[in-house]
Parts: sequence; C-alpha cells; structure tokens
Amino acid sequence: MIRHTVTTTLAALTASVLATVAHAQAGGAAAPAEVIVTNARIYTVDDSRPFVSAMAVRGGRVAFVGDERGAMTLRGPQTRVLDLGGRTVIPGMVDSHGHVANLGSALANVDLVGSTSVDDVIARVVAKVAGRPAGEWIVGRGWDQNRWGDTRFPSHDKLTAAVPNNPVVLTRVDGHASYMNRKAMELAGITAAMKDPDGGQILRDANGNPTGVFVDNAMGLVSRVMPALTRDEVKRNVLAAIAEAQKWGLTGVHDAGSSEQVLGIYDELGKAGQMNFRMYAMFSGGRSESPALDRIIATGPKSGLNGGTLWIRSIKLYSDGALGSRGAALLDPYSDDASNSGLLVSDPKFIEAVSVKALKAGFQVNTHAIGDRGNRVTLDAFEAALKQVPVADHRFRIEHAQIINYADIPRFAQLGVIPAMQASHQTSDMYWAGARLGTHRLPGAYAWRALLNTGVVIPNGSDFPVEFVNPLLSFHAAISRQDANDWPAAGWYPEQVMTREEALKSMTIWPAYSAFQENELGSLTPGKYADFTVLDQDIMRVPAPLVLKTRVVSTWVGGKLVFENRVP
Ligand SMILES: [Zn+2]
Repeated sequence: MIRHTVTTTLAALTASVLATVAHAQAGGAAAPAEVIVTNARIYTVDDSRPFVSAMAVRGGRVAFVGDERGAMTLRGPQTRVLDLGGRTVIPGMVDSHGHVANLGSALANVDLVGSTSVDDVIARVVAKVAGRPAGEWIVGRGWDQNRWGDTRFPSHDKLTAAVPNNPVVLTRVDGHASYMNRKAMELAGITAAMKDPDGGQILRDANGNPTGVFVDNAMGLVSRVMPALTRDEVKRNVLAAIAEAQKWGLTGVHDAGSSEQVLGIYDELGKAGQMNFRMYAMFSGGRSESPALDRIIATGPKSGLNGGTLWIRSIKLYSDGALGSRGAALLDPYSDDASNSGLLVSDPKFIEAVSVKALKAGFQVNTHAIGDRGNRVTLDAFEAALKQVPVADHRFRIEHAQIINYADIPRFAQLGVIPAMQASHQTSDMYWAGARLGTHRLPGAYAWRALLNTGVVIPNGSDFPVEFVNPLLSFHAAISRQDANDWPAAGWYPEQVMTREEALKSMTIWPAYSAFQENELGSLTPGKYADFTVLDQDIMRVPAPLVLKTRVVSTWVGGKLVFENRVP
C-alpha cells in the first residue's frame, strides 16, 4: 500500500512536468484544446482531485480538469465542445488480461458461448458447415459442460454423426480442453494406442478409445495438424477484436500471450496509424525454452511505441491448467475426483530460469496460475529468481491467482507480486467451484479482499474470450460477488467484495500500474493521455443490479473518438 501511494505521488509529479512540457510544445497558452467536455460527472481516479464536471484535451492529453469556466478558457475556434448532459465519464477502462487474436477468431468462428447442451453445440456447428466444402476445418469456441443439464464431458459420436466429412475442433470456454469429431481425430492420427502427453490427457471410454475430448497439452496433438491462419486473417481478427473492445468502453488491453507474428501486426498497425488503442503485449513465452523467447529478451523491453500504442516488456508463462477442466494444479486432490490433483503444464524450473533472464533484461514475467499448487510453485519460482537477481521494482504478476492456500496470500505483498484477477471468473465459477474444491478451500478462492488487505493492487479483466468482453461484468462482480440475476442474494463469500472505488481503480489505475504505465495512463490527470469512456449512468452510485444496464455512450483514446453508440 505504501509503495502504491509513493508511486501515485510520483506519477502526479511526472504528469505535471509532462503537462508543462506539452504546454510549451503547443505554443503556450494560445494553443486551444481539441475537445472540451462539460456538464459531466467525471471520476478522475486521481486522489488529488477525484470528482470534477469539466475537462479539456490538448495534444491528445488531458490539459485541464475542473469546472466549465476553467475548461472553456482553452476553447478555440476548432474546439469540439461536448455538453454531456450529466452523463458519467471515467478514465478509459483497460482489460488487464484478454486474448486479442483469440477474441478475433472467436468472432469469426462458431460461437459456442452460452450453449445450453451438446445438441445446441452441434446445431450451431451444423449451421456453420452448410455450404462449406468437405474437408474444410470447422473451428469453434466457448462451450462449457458445467452449464449443461448433463455436466459430463461430451463424447464425439453425435458430433461425428452430424458432421462426418469436415474436421471439427471446438475449444472449451477456458481454452484448456477441446472437443472434436472423428474426422479431426483421424487427420491427427489419434488412436487408442496413443499415450497421453506430459501435462495433457486424452479422455477415453472403458475400452481405452478416445472419446473426443482432449485436455491441456493433449490439445496440441490435433492443433498441430490444423492449417495455420494466414497473416492477413490474423490481422483481420486483431482489428475485429479491437473494434469489439472499444464498443464496450475499453481503451486498452493487456494481451495475455502475443506471438511474434501478432507483435509484428501490432507494430505494423501502429506505424500505419491504425492502432487507436493501448496494447500492452505479453509475449507468449511457451512452456519450454525457445529461440523466439531468446530473440524477444535479446531485443530488450520496449515501451510506448508508435505514439503510445504498443508495449513489449512482459513475458507470459503458464504454471497449470484451469479449474473447469480439472487442469488447475491443487495441493490436495479435487473434491470431486480423488484421483486427480490437476496438472503443472510447465516445469517450475523453466519459470524460474525465464524469470532470471527477464529480471536481468528488464522484462516483467506474468505467469498463469489457477490452483493453489500452481500459485505456490509460481511464487516459489519467482522468489528463487529474485534471490539470484534482486530487482526492487519488478512488478511480476500471477495471472488469475484464483485458488490460493491461505498461507500464501501474504507472500504476494512480501515478494511484490501482483495478482491479476478477473472478477467475472468468480461469478462464472461459483456454481461448481465448491464441488471441485470442497468448502475448506473456498476462503482462499477469488479472495480479493484478503489480498487487498495485504497491500497489493489487483488489476481486473475478463480473460476474453473466456468471459464476455464487457468490463462492467467484472466491475459488477467485484462489488457484489453476484451474477447478472443478483444470485446469491447476499453474494458468494461476500466478505471478499471490493468497494466501488477499488473496483474502478482495478479497471483503470491498477492496470496502468501493473503495466508500468501509471505516469501515462489510468487517471484523468493533466499530462496523461486523454483516454476516457462516457457512460449513460453513474456506475459509482446506481444500485449494483443496474450497473449491468449501463451502456457505453462513447470511447476516446488520446482525445480521439474511437466508438460512439449511435442507438438513441
Ligand atoms: Zn487467459
């Protein structure tokens, strides 16, 4: 907590220096604002001036916050003045953990989110296959058998009968299992004799025949024979995902696993002036040493490229799988599967070795960990690396940090490790988390309050396309621990809620801090980028159930309008 306060003060100081510089560059007091916002309820998330009614933007940055009279002194003949009629303005929301290219493919492929049964899944696939040539791969994502009446994993027979001639691969909502038909398994050469790969599982029937569901590292047996997307297709997907994010009021994303190809696309879009978005890319470091990882580390960290649209200074690693597919690594077996404690998908020594290299080169390491064992081995690996290369301000992160053994909660603050948690995972998982974990492990599950009390910050997010993009779903979950139907009435383990002020910070200044951007982003402070979102109601005051009825009116990045809701 102390460290965060110091940082905020430092940020304010740097911001005012920047404002002075911007002022001088723009030609002194005569340079007018591009945009002036008046008659608004503006939550600045700047503790020195938290609530104002007007704001002026100049040179893409916040030039002034205060009242209308003050803002209007910056008005010139070309200035666009927006009377917001009492609407709410917050700093641009940032999703601290989303998968940009995956969202783009989800938008292009069969959308299985919200499917209610295996029959529903098959019907959606059949509709997509219509008119496609035999042999073309059909890809989908978003099924979750925990939402079906029959919560067992599906088997391929029905899917194979409905779609015999096209290979079909359908990824589970969490990305940690895939369901496929016989054609896909044939093309991948899957047989009953094939052994499970390390860190993966092929589900089988009583006779040992694969049933069509592949968990974690076993998914690679099939994905390796699928034709890769062309670069143009990936670029199209990236642009579609950014447009979708802006529609929901997001001005930036921490991309949780970008390939070298995707980094190249981000850079190209930025250079062409087509990246109206803040992309904090975590390079996908894989599960073992690779030349690509060495290349990124050798190139060195890069911040604010192409006019503040791209940051490459972080490496994404994986410790374990996910809870829904029982791949999250637990210290004790699953309560609903005594023979299974989940999977470590990387050797902890690999996480430690990459962390050592990253600390030496000035990179952050962000490691996926969901189970209490996954979290513990990651904290251990970070601790061992920091002993070898002590760096005070490393801001290493654990992505998800969902199930933490109570003894490990204080270790985040002690080591300076940031838990990057997605509040909507709590409301999606609460229906079955108790079955997987037993009630004794739930006090350390999605334990935002317990963690905040130790002094850490929690950057929020959605993990899209695992969850819906809408960041207000996580804001709502954070303040209520309830689903969209206000269930359960008192909230699920309601002692873990965030206050609204914390929830707003978790989508603005805390993501900025956890990406080393707090001097540039995260609050409406003079000198910082003018990234903001206009909402049709005041999420800081309306009753919690109404938060999800809030609509994004417009989204602004660097003072530029990037999305406007034209529906009256
Ligand atoms: Zn993720």
